[in-house]
Amino acid sequence: MKTRFKKVLLVIAVILIGGFLLPERISIPVKGATAKDWHPKSFWFEPWGTSGVHKGIDIFAKLGQPVVSTTDGIVLYKGHLAKGGNVVLVLGPKWRLHYFAHLHTIDTAWFNIVTSGEPIGKVGDSGNAKGKPAHVHYSIVRIFPAPWAMDRSTQGVKKAFFIDPDKYLRKAE
Ligand SMILES: [Zn+2]
Repeated sequence: MKTRFKKVLLVIAVILIGGFLLPERISIPVKGATAKDWHPKSFWFEPWGTSGVHKGIDIFAKLGQPVVSTTDGIVLYKGHLAKGGNVVLVLGPKWRLHYFAHLHTIDTAWFNIVTSGEPIGKVGDSGNAKGKPAHVHYSIVRIFPAPWAMDRSTQGVKKAFFIDPDKYLRKAE
């Protein structure tokens, strides 16, 4: 192998492994919110509209309350989606994607470096939350699947990717 190619592989390996080793500093995604503001069994609740099961949790709060990043990371996407409305996607440690949906406004930019607890938007009812009480839909998705997390529930194979935010956020309390 050419030396330069080896170096490139080494750098990729360091980045990949480094991502897994980065510590997670967890914040609850709404300023002032506690675990009382979401239903503890909301993750994978079914039936759940066109998604079949609920692949995240909904944190209820006043319209316009600041939404904060749950982790240190980088904003990989911000924009408007039919279901999610105004959404922000943050890549955090351990190659986990953090997805915040139904925002009233987005207060961050593409490729912003954010710290845990930093405001990224406001609580709203955009997308398919229109007409429902204002809330943030929050999902955590692994980029590298964890097959051992799969189970026999409806769409249980997808649990290789989706992490239960209830369990994750309780570590923040
Ligand atoms: Zn939801």
